[in-house]
Amino acid sequence: MEKKQFELGDVVQMKKPHPCGTNEWEIIRMGMDIRIKCVHCKHSVLIPRAEFEKKMKKVLRSAAKDEPEAT
Ligand SMILES: [Zn+2]
Repeated sequence: MEKKQFELGDVVQMKKPHPCGTNEWEIIRMGMDIRIKCVHCKHSVLIPRAEFEKKMKKVLRSAAKDEPEAT
């Protein structure tokens, strides 16, 4: 199983969508706990990091591309 990578500002998809019908969350705080904000209704939730990693499905948009550029 591949390791999930995410960073501040990334927009992620969770296994369960928000009740408002949107499944896009922006990471707005990182630490022991992760705070994510629903991009649609702006509701934010604080989740322990381990739980976040379990519930996150994938990163939709990365805030900063850290892939090495082919030069
Ligand atoms: Zn929402």
